[in-house]
Parts: sequence; structure tokens; C-alpha cells
Amino acid sequence: MAAPSAALSMSRVINPFWRGRVGNTVKVRQNATFMSYLGWSVDIMLQPPPAKYGGRHTVTLIPGDGIGPELLSHVREVFRFSCVPVDFEVVHVNSADETENDINNAITAIRRNGVALKGNIETNHNMMPSVKSRNNLLRTSLDLFANVMHCQSLPGVQTRHKNIDIMIIRENTEGEYSSLEHESVSGVVESLKIITRNNSFRIADYAFQLAREKGRRRVTAVHKANIMKLGDGLFLQCCREVASGYPDITFDSMIVDNTTMQLVSKPQQFDVMVMPNLYGNVVSNVCAGLVGGPGLVPGANYGRDYAVFETATRNTGKSIANRNIANPTAMLLASCMMLDHLKLHDHASSIRNAVLTTMNETRLHTADIGGQGTTSEVVQSVMRIIQSKGQLTAEL
Ligand code: ATP
Repeated sequence: MAAPSAALSMSRVINPFWRGRVGNTVKVRQNATFMSYLGWSVDIMLQPPPAKYGGRHTVTLIPGDGIGPELLSHVREVFRFSCVPVDFEVVHVNSADETENDINNAITAIRRNGVALKGNIETNHNMMPSVKSRNNLLRTSLDLFANVMHCQSLPGVQTRHKNIDIMIIRENTEGEYSSLEHESVSGVVESLKIITRNNSFRIADYAFQLAREKGRRRVTAVHKANIMKLGDGLFLQCCREVASGYPDITFDSMIVDNTTMQLVSKPQQFDVMVMPNLYGNVVSNVCAGLVGGPGLVPGANYGRDYAVFETATRNTGKSIANRNIANPTAMLLASCMMLDHLKLHDHASSIRNAVLTTMNETRLHTADIGGQGTTSEVVQSVMRIIQSKGQLTAEL
């Protein structure tokens, strides 16, 4: 496994491939099946959008619901203080609106800017079945096929298990999240789970590329192919085929129910994990819980052309909204992942180091990790640490 220090810098997360490139292969890979199937190169990495207007980047900011707006206002405060050359284009999405106008505006803004930072948009499941999850619409419309979460034991946070360092790669666009359901016969609902060869190959290859770039040794595919023999069977088969092109990385597989049990009993055994959509959601939440909870872990969604950053477990946290008690760590670390994506590595490291140093201060811990600290106390500490390191800062 990667050294713990390297891991916290989820920073230089591998960027997905295939930007603007279909056709010729740049580098021949051993996995001929995969290459010939896709017929394009997987070695073209996504480049962040170029900075504009005097070296500044414009990023779409979607505050979302619950604790999203306050956490993102803290990110803006820290960016302003740290003189980060990023301007935000704020796009509000009203989760009570049954039309898709707001989310379409947000999607257009991300297409324009290339990058977004977002809070979670509430999905009210009492609304008409035709009203789809806005978060899911955004991911599928932009083809953000890879959800990446790096789950690592954090300094200063007391947890049952130590030395956890797992990268979870979740297929983000199909599987159980197809939103294809019908009740043709009353009392009988069919929910379609879609698994395609193309998308299974690309997520498997993404996981192996990431594993190789990060110096990881093992990739585990999580599935339920003993029951969903065709769907999960295909996913597993694609992972196996891709694995044959990476002889330097060990491949194995585990059934999802056993995986969750193994995770809560011996999480250190896992290195990189790749899985379809719903298992990815469950496993991400289990892993976040293992390292201290949803307030701590950042997440990213990558596609060929766009990248969207948010907290790994995509919580709304309605009951703790506007009470100054939410843990800002996950959102601040998500903003650091975004800065790395924009190649603003110095700013990313400066903010990330300040956040991790603050985590070591038990007296500043927020309630979710057993303390009495407030959101703004954590943020103030982060800014003080940035200033103390001699970083260029604005007025506090
Ligand atoms: P809530 O219970 O807050 O209304 P919810 O039931 O929709 O939210 P989630 O939003 O999925 O649940 O959040 C799961 C749990 O994690 C909730 O108890 C929430 O308060 C807590 N939580 C989520 N994010 C944070 C955070 N940043 N800091 C502290 N607690 C958080």
C-alpha cells in the first residue's frame, strides 16, 4: 500500500483519460481485447481547463441543501484569505422545483467552466417518481463516470481501526442508478440495473491506471455475481480482462456482503477497490464511518471532459444546517482536490496541511468526532495556520 503521508495528498488524483481523443492509440497496452473494444487510447489524461483572465480559473459552485451552503461559504472564505486564483460562478438548484430548469442551468455552467464544487442537492422521495435525483442527473449528463474516494485514517481522530488506506473507485453512471423503473402490472415494480461492457471496461481500466500511478499493489472488484450472474458477471469479467493488461498489479474479487463484513473487521487488507454504482455507495459510507464519519472524507467525480468535487458520502445534513456545528473538513479537502485538478498544487497543499494540522487539535474537534468545536473555529484555525506558514494572505 502507499505510504500514509503520500495518501493524504489525494491531490494528484489521476485524471481520467480520453479527453477529446478517439481513434489512434498512443501507447500499445497488452490488453488487446480492451483496446480493440474501445478503439481509442486510454493514455490521454484529462487536462483541467486553462486558466483565463489573468491566470484565474472560473469554477461552478452549487451550494446545494442542508449544510452545503455554509460549508461552501467557508471554502470561499479560505480561498479569499489564501489569495487562491479561483472565481466562483454560483448556481443555485432548488430541490423543490419539479422542472429540470435549475439543474440544466447548473450542467450548462459546468460545461462552460469544466469544473465544479458542490454541496448535495436534496432528493425528496415523496415527489413524483418522474422527478429524478438532481445529483444523479448531473453526473449522468456530464458522463462523470468515475467516483473516487480516498479513505484514510486521519491524524488526531480516534477510531476503532487504525492504518486504513483504501481507494474506492465507483462506477458513477449506470448500474442501479439508471432511474428506469416501471409498474406495468399493479403491485409489481421492475427496477432496471444496467451494466454495460463499455462502462465496465472503462471504470476497471480507470481503477488499474490509478492503482499504477499511485504505486498501489492490488485491485479488488466488488460484485454479487453469484446472484446477478449476467449483470455483475459481466462487470467482473471486464475487470478480469482489464487486469490481464496490468501484470504488475494483483487482481482479486470479493462478494459485496462479505466485503462489508471484511471492511468492519479487517479494513487494512484492502488497497484499491472497484465496483458498480450502488455497492460503491454502500462501501463508501462504510469506509467513511471507519475513518471517522461523513464530515471528514472528500470525493471526486471525473469524466472525460469535466470534474465535480464534493464530500465523499454526499450528505445533506439537514438537521445540523445553520448551527455552526458541521465538520468542514471533508468539503475543505474536496476543495483541495479541486485545486490539484486545476494544477494549483501549492494552494492545495497549503490548505490541506492546515486542515490536517487542525485535525490534530482535539479541542477543535466538532461534535461528529466527539468534540465541542464549531465549524467556524475549525475554519479560523485553518486560516491562522496558513498565515503562520508565511503564505500570502488577505486580511482576516
Ligand atoms: P440529517 O439527519 O442531518 O437531516 P440525513 O438524514 O439526510 O441528514 P445525511 O445527510 O445523509 O442524513 O447525513 C448522515 C448523517 O451524517 C447525519 O446524521 C448528518 O447530520 C451527519 N453529517 C453529514 N455531514 C456531516 C458533517 N459535515 N459534519 C457533521 N455531521 C455530518
